[in-house]
Amino acid sequence: MRPRKRFGQHFLHDPGVLKRLVEAIAPVDSDIFVEIGPGEGALTRPLLERIGRLTAIEIDRDLAAKLAHEFSSQRLTVVSADVLDFDFSALPSGLRVVGNLPYNISTPILFHLARHASRVRDMHFMLQLEVVQRMVARHSTPDYGRLSVMLQTRFKMHKLFNVAPGAFRPPPKVDSAVVRLVPLAEKPDWDQAVLEKIVREAFSARRKTLRNALPLPAEDYEVVGIDPTLRPENLSPEDYLRITRRVCAR
Ligand code: SAM
Repeated sequence: MRPRKRFGQHFLHDPGVLKRLVEAIAPVDSDIFVEIGPGEGALTRPLLERIGRLTAIEIDRDLAAKLAHEFSSQRLTVVSADVLDFDFSALPSGLRVVGNLPYNISTPILFHLARHASRVRDMHFMLQLEVVQRMVARHSTPDYGRLSVMLQTRFKMHKLFNVAPGAFRPPPKVDSAVVRLVPLAEKPDWDQAVLEKIVREAFSARRKTLRNALPLPAEDYEVVGIDPTLRPENLSPEDYLRITRRVCAR
């Protein structure tokens, strides 16, 4: 089947990369796995050699039907749907989520999953290298932004290894990397929707001072001990949580 550009289809075919990816995931038979975008099954197959069953969410109906045909329904549940519409809260807790994600919508997928972090044990994703760099960036560096804050407030993240374009068919125009996300132990004591709004507003004007980008009452900045003449990129994820808690308490 010809890869479909609109679904960001770049199929992994390098056995060495697949082996490293499966080793990084370290599947154990009792684990509850969900794969996003199984495509032609490059990762699905070696996972199912190690585990009893897996749920896979694939938007491309033709590929979903092919995979469902290859494995028995006891072993593989193929959900033919857009992962952005998929309700992860319908699945049991302790989920291990994996995928070589479609790069064109990887950021919305990550935001979607951040809202379901409490159900997740860990996640391993192949992503565009530049996106992984933004995910793990520290504050006051050029790559730091909305994605860094929203993920770092919910997950501990490790960039595992880089992957060159030649590992995929067709090769993407960019380098890739594999990243691991593990939810932080603490249960969130803030309103996620308020945090999302504050972070979106702050980074929509990242060159402005905080006072102008996020015009809160001066008293709020005093109470949380943050200098409003700083730029949004100078605040750590914990600083954004302090602002969110203050706004919610007010
Ligand atoms: N896992 C396969 C591999 O490694 O060869 C395929 C990876 S390919 C980069 C991304 C896969 O995600 C494709 O199979 C594509 O059809 C699927 N996909 C794209 N958008 C999706 C969406 N919104 N929901 C679910 N799957 C999607």
